[in-house]
Order: sequence, then C-alpha cells, then structure tokens
Amino acid sequence: MLISDEFVMLSSLWGWGITRDTYEETKAMLSKRFGTEASWGDVAWSIYAQLTDEFARVPDFEKLATIYACMAAHLHNRHRAHRQCALEYHRYRIMLFREHGFRKVRIDAHPYGCEACEALRDKTYTINEDLIKNPPLPPENCACQLTKSWDAGYCMCQLVAEDLDQKAMLRHLGLKG
Ligand SMILES: [Zn+2]
Ligand SMILES: [Zn+2]
Repeated sequence: MLISDEFVMLSSLWGWGITRDTYEETKAMLSKRFGTEASWGDVAWSIYAQLTDEFARVPDFEKLATIYACMAAHLHNRHRAHRQCALEYHRYRIMLFREHGFRKVRIDAHPYGCEACEALRDKTYTINEDLIKNPPLPPENCACQLTKSWDAGYCMCQLVAEDLDQKAMLRHLGLKG
C-alpha cells in the first residue's frame, strides 16, 4: 500500500520529476543491495539524496531547502537526530535570499516556541559567509515540543528576508541595476 507519511510527503515532490516509477526503481535497487525488501523510509531517504545531488548541481537553493526540510521531518518522525538537516534547510534559505538581493534576515520566532527560540525573536543578521556557515536556527539548545507526541527540539521558527538591495535583485533577474 502506498499510504504512509512518506508517501504524502514525497507526493508533493512529483512536480520535480519524482514518479511512481522512481519509487519502484529506487525500491528495487535498494532491495537488491540490502538483500531484503527496502522500507518506504529507505526509499524516501534515497530519493531525497538523489534530489539533493540533482539540485546542488543547478544549484536551486529553494528546492534544496525544501528537501532538507523533508529530511529533517523524516528523521524527527523516527526519533533520530535531525538538527544537521534543519541547519541545511536554513542555510539554503539564506543563500536563496542572498541570490534574490536581500542583505539581512530576521528571526520570526514561533509563537509556541521554547525559551531558546523566544530569546532569538526579531534578531536580525547580515547575510554573509559566516551566517551561511552558522545559521542561527535552530538554536543548539532548542527544546520546542509543539505537541506531546513530538520529540523535543523540533524548531518551527523561520528566517525572513529583509533589506532588499534593488540593484542586486535586478542583476539577479538579468536586468540592469
Ligand atoms: Zn525551540
Ligand atoms: Zn525555534
């Protein structure tokens, strides 16, 4: 049966060239390698890896951010450490904002976030290499637990773009600045 959280999540990627055939081919390839039937989780993870490779070559920061958000959720759903994927998500979002000509980001803290997240509310950061190397979200000591069934540490805060550099934006669009 094709009914699982993974299926719902991956079905949103169909517009990106992921089809039922992708599932079947990936599943067959993994099952052969494992010598036993690959789970949906394994298939999903492998498809995420294929997509990150593909989008890193473009590079398409928006799609990379989306995939890493899916990967973070995938790990969190399995009670595994997901912070590294969450950092990648924010890193690619910052790179996307820079590409679009923004000079700063501001923290939009989740209304039901933990103390560590709340302490970051409305902080602004200049977009530079240091920030890309060390995204401010999620905070290392995040203890967010938005429902009782979730593990703690799943930060739902967002970075929002600020301070548009019009000339950079026009250059990005291929127009004269
Ligand atoms: Zn938090
Ligand atoms: Zn947070």
